Amino acid sequence: MVMESLRPGSAGDVPPFLPFQDRYDLEGLTAIMEGYPLARTFDVAWDLSFAASALQEAADDELAGRVFVATAVAWYVEAEGDDADAQELVDELANAFERALGLLDDGPCPHIAHPDLPSDTTEALWVGMHLASARGRAAYERWPEPWAPPLDTALCPAFVAATARDSLTRLRNG
Ligand SMILES: [Zn+2]
Repeated sequence: MVMESLRPGSAGDVPPFLPFQDRYDLEGLTAIMEGYPLARTFDVAWDLSFAASALQEAADDELAGRVFVATAVAWYVEAEGDDADAQELVDELANAFERALGLLDDGPCPHIAHPDLPSDTTEALWVGMHLASARGRAAYERWPEPWAPPLDTALCPAFVAATARDSLTRLRNG
């Protein structure tokens, strides 16, 4: 069987589908953010903390996506987290954003302006989860969502750094 996505000449020769683990995490986190965690979620704070550890360990080509995933989780925590569990998660997220800022080239970029991430938390999560892998980025380009920023500016290190800095400021002042 030859899948359409594997035809010669397809963008980047990468199948445009989220890797299984990212799809699994996207479904689980989206359900948490919508207020109806999946049955497999035993501990919401534990599941959310994966966004921090994934950013803490992200390789260069995953960094933009992982910053946006962690940003969506930070927005969620800011809105919903008000117990002791949340403070540990806030610290993990903040440390991961600080590491990311140390890795990102924050110099001048060719863009006059950067589009915003979607203000909807689950949409920002969707953007991040897709940008975190070559396969996800291929899907992002193949089937663009009207509310999602264009790939080239979304991956711009200056934009990613500004997003990480904003998230860090909100977490530290929370
Ligand atoms: Zn830029």
